[in-house]
Amino acid sequence: MPDQTGKQLPTDMQPAELLQNLIRFDTTNPPGNEGECIKYIEKIFSGIGLQTKIFAKDMNRPNLVTRLRGRGDKPPLLIYGHVDVVTASGQEWRYPPFEGRRIDGFVWGRGALDMKGGVAMMLAAILRVCVQNIKPAGDIIFAALSDEEAGGDLGAGYLVEDHADYFSGTKYAIGEFGGFSMHVGNKCFYPIMVAEKQACWIKGLIKGPAGHGAIPVRGGAMASLGRMLGLLDRHRLPVHITPVTRQMIETMALHLGFPSGLFLRGLLQPGLTDLILKLLGGNVSHFDPLLHNTVNATIVNGGKKVNVIPSEIEVHLDGRILPGFEPDDFFNELKTIVGNDIDFEIEHYDAFHGKPDMGLFDTLASVLKELDQDGISLPMMLPGVTDGRHFAKLGIQTYGFLPMRLPPEFNFSKLIHAADERIPEDALNFGADAIYRLIERY
Ligand SMILES: [Zn+2]
Repeated sequence: MPDQTGKQLPTDMQPAELLQNLIRFDTTNPPGNEGECIKYIEKIFSGIGLQTKIFAKDMNRPNLVTRLRGRGDKPPLLIYGHVDVVTASGQEWRYPPFEGRRIDGFVWGRGALDMKGGVAMMLAAILRVCVQNIKPAGDIIFAALSDEEAGGDLGAGYLVEDHADYFSGTKYAIGEFGGFSMHVGNKCFYPIMVAEKQACWIKGLIKGPAGHGAIPVRGGAMASLGRMLGLLDRHRLPVHITPVTRQMIETMALHLGFPSGLFLRGLLQPGLTDLILKLLGGNVSHFDPLLHNTVNATIVNGGKKVNVIPSEIEVHLDGRILPGFEPDDFFNELKTIVGNDIDFEIEHYDAFHGKPDMGLFDTLASVLKELDQDGISLPMMLPGVTDGRHFAKLGIQTYGFLPMRLPPEFNFSKLIHAADERIPEDALNFGADAIYRLIERY
């Protein structure tokens, strides 16, 4: 496929060059320090005469917004990405994580996939639209955000709280994650994220008799903790088929045919779901969180001295709730597994309500079809969270749409937040071209 975006732009505005430069700012969050990286983006836009605004709750953690005027026939379309990254420390990298090296057709470095690569695609697409003087149907709002990796309180969360006006009238947005190729059998699917699960972090208090470490205690808090962890390890919460996951699985099943399609369709029969997950193991494990509310114990605090039996143990659990469910539903499910003896309370809950508005889906799918005739787009729910949940409070539907055509052997999910994060240059050009086409036809 010709790299049309690249050909229209000077080299320093091509996706790979932009990404190299973005990676070279160490925006590891915490502490983030996104300021210099945001200034770099500001400079690129001012270079082509595009005005920008900085919205910052903390001047070291700024967010940049800009607006391309459209013809006013449609509401604004928001295109956003975060420039902070997770740490690379403690990982063994083949090349240094903040040098943005281009080797063997890849750009290497922290953030190449999550999500400076996406920001580079967006920038390249917007620059091309500006250089060509294209006026889309509606305004295009671009936002480069800080702080996504630590919850977005200084980034998307802050913009939604304090600068909602800037986004007024916006219905649709594109952001992370989705639009990348996923090879199953001999088919190539492009899942586009249209929904995400809700994070519900909870704390459980486990009580039991205290005592001297020299005297045996039965039924203590430690034993209850062990029992609870064992139960959570052995059992799943009940199966729920949400509309997005149904559509995703049905589309895949239709194209895969017999026998894979039959197994996949079986996942949609609640009586068979867990059995199929067990039988097919690793092959379908990524469907597990899309079909259940889930919980993982992640932190345990209990006991201060080796010779004192603690009367209380605190356990923190990372709960993830499907759209359409509430924390109370989740607690009830949890108690059917671990019993009623443990008191749970919510520490943090990101409510994410409402059904996905699929109004932009067909446009996105048609862009992908143009770039890859054999590709099959389908809607997807993300088991994690993105800044999309903040913008959802303004009634904005985010689509995870950072298109990448990846080689089948490229293990995308294993490289995110991990060592040797990298992105094929072809995939970057593919994404920039797709976003350009989206703006052009919006
Ligand atoms: Zn991200």
